[in-house]
Amino acid sequence: MSALDAICDKIDARQRLSAADGAYLFSPEVDLHELGRLADGVCRRKNGNAACYNLNAHLNPTNVCIYRCPLCAYSCDEGDPRSYAMTDEEIMRRGQEAEAAGCTELHIVGGAHPRKGFDWYLGMIRSLHTAFPRLHLKAWSAVEIDHFAHLTHQPVREVLEMLMEAGLGSMPGGGAEIFDPQVRAQVCPRKADAQTWLNIHRTAHQHGLRTNASMLFGHVESAEQRIDHLLQLRRLQDETGGFQAFIPLAFHPEHTALPHLRRPSPLLALRTVAISRLMLDNFDHIKAYWISLGVGVAQTALAYGADDLDGTVRYERIHHDAGATSPEALSVDQLRALIAETGREPVERDSLYGRVGRGMRDQG
Ligand code: SF4
Repeated sequence: MSALDAICDKIDARQRLSAADGAYLFSPEVDLHELGRLADGVCRRKNGNAACYNLNAHLNPTNVCIYRCPLCAYSCDEGDPRSYAMTDEEIMRRGQEAEAAGCTELHIVGGAHPRKGFDWYLGMIRSLHTAFPRLHLKAWSAVEIDHFAHLTHQPVREVLEMLMEAGLGSMPGGGAEIFDPQVRAQVCPRKADAQTWLNIHRTAHQHGLRTNASMLFGHVESAEQRIDHLLQLRRLQDETGGFQAFIPLAFHPEHTALPHLRRPSPLLALRTVAISRLMLDNFDHIKAYWISLGVGVAQTALAYGADDLDGTVRYERIHHDAGATSPEALSVDQLRALIAETGREPVERDSLYGRVGRGMRDQG
């Protein structure tokens, strides 16, 4: 029996794949389309024929960041001509625009600004939630939560409680990159390490806050380091069950401190999506984030184990500053058409993966 046949048997028997299985699936000798068929089967077992999207807008309140990760094209130092920090009026206008466009979610992440206190970040959540209570606020990566804990000298638990009381609805999955410390030393040496990231998500889950998880692939990491990352997430999910979706993010070297690296190929992106679906048997959703993967690869990924295209995504800056060539936003009709073309049923979801019913589909 070949190694791939043995893996197929495990998948049919709903057994877990091992680290060695995962590393093998990254080898070019494993046919990508065969891998995609396996992952698509697992995806359909979990989600049927549905593939989802949401109506969301992004808010990146500042690009000034103390961490200045080499992988990041978005951040800059204070005083840099590119630097900005949004005013309260600009932030509230973004909320108004999101609500007027029919969005159900505002996705809020940005930099750790050296002169903004926790009150600025907390007040933003409170003001937006008070003014737009129907908008779900998915805000602050674990890196930012760690920064807030340092700013306030409070434990993460207290920081999360204050944010939840102010209106935080859930947390995105950014800042995970690759957990391996040797990789982090090269691509993000100063920000929260793997244990800190995992502990913050564990604490969030213990407080009933749902979160996502991500992995930035295609830079200096090895296949084994990707698999180690997935297994660490799988272990935490076994413990808490608090993750909603896993999001593989493609590295974009343009404008980063790692410009000599090449972008990961579409084939590596599809392989990573498929392997993520197969390894993360305890995650319900794998998101093909079209901003990061590109629209074409994200659509194709719906046949390679993904079941979620993310959203309309107005005003995204972080990936576009890194050279993402995807459009600034997609309309609802465009998202639905992309999904329908794959033969899947387009389903609008909210931030907690409930179905959204709309009388008239006129937003976008
Ligand atoms: Fe700051 Fe995040 Fe960019 Fe790192 S990746 S510099 S933490 S904004």
